[in-house]
Amino acid sequence: MKRALKWVGLVVALLIVLAGAVWYSAFGNNKPVVEGPVVEGVETVKDSFVNVFIVDVAPGKVALVDAGNDKAGKAVLGALARRGLTPDSVAAIFLTHGHGDHTAGAKLLPTAEVYAMEADVSLVGDAAKVTHPLKDGEIVTVGDERVEAFSVPGHTPGSAVYLARGVLFFGDSAGASKTGEVMKAVRLFSKDSALNVASLNALAVRLAPRKAEIKAFAFGHTGSLVGYEPLASLASPK
Ligand SMILES: [Zn+2]
Ligand SMILES: [Zn+2]
Repeated sequence: MKRALKWVGLVVALLIVLAGAVWYSAFGNNKPVVEGPVVEGVETVKDSFVNVFIVDVAPGKVALVDAGNDKAGKAVLGALARRGLTPDSVAAIFLTHGHGDHTAGAKLLPTAEVYAMEADVSLVGDAAKVTHPLKDGEIVTVGDERVEAFSVPGHTPGSAVYLARGVLFFGDSAGASKTGEVMKAVRLFSKDSALNVASLNALAVRLAPRKAEIKAFAFGHTGSLVGYEPLASLASPK
């Protein structure tokens, strides 16, 4: 009996070590998330382990990039309230992809238009009503701002990168490392890792002539990167 318990203990310990190793390889090198402004007019809100971004689009009007993991929207509604804004102040939600940790808060904002890539509408499912399925390269005007959508399939078939107010929003298609490099999507949670890398490469090539427009990169689960330089490392993601 004692001997059996010893073996059970050993197996449990091994599983814990293994889970720790998997966790570390997926998240251990992440740049920590800092709440607050990324650039002027773009704010990071930390909804437990996922980021939501508030983008100013007009006086008293904002758009969100992703809607968070919390169905009660505590962090997002709190951040809006701190600015004197209500759920009705959110004109649009731009979903980077259909995973539930990015869509759960959408229903709290019933007046917002909801944008997502066409190819991820089914993955969004009941979490949100996508009012505007997007195609690659589409440009949406919200208030006084333009939001440009790029298709970057890989993490999910309909993953999007958005460009608004000079910030590229990657969702889970990329992340920032502690040393300031752009990392590809976490393989464990991605549909097609090779396609993700190919999409990031293609985006880097596509945006290279527009580097003057790009001030920062924002990610779904890591801190942001400021400046254009990290885009160069996208062309050879690790
Ligand atoms: Zn995801
Ligand atoms: Zn995610």
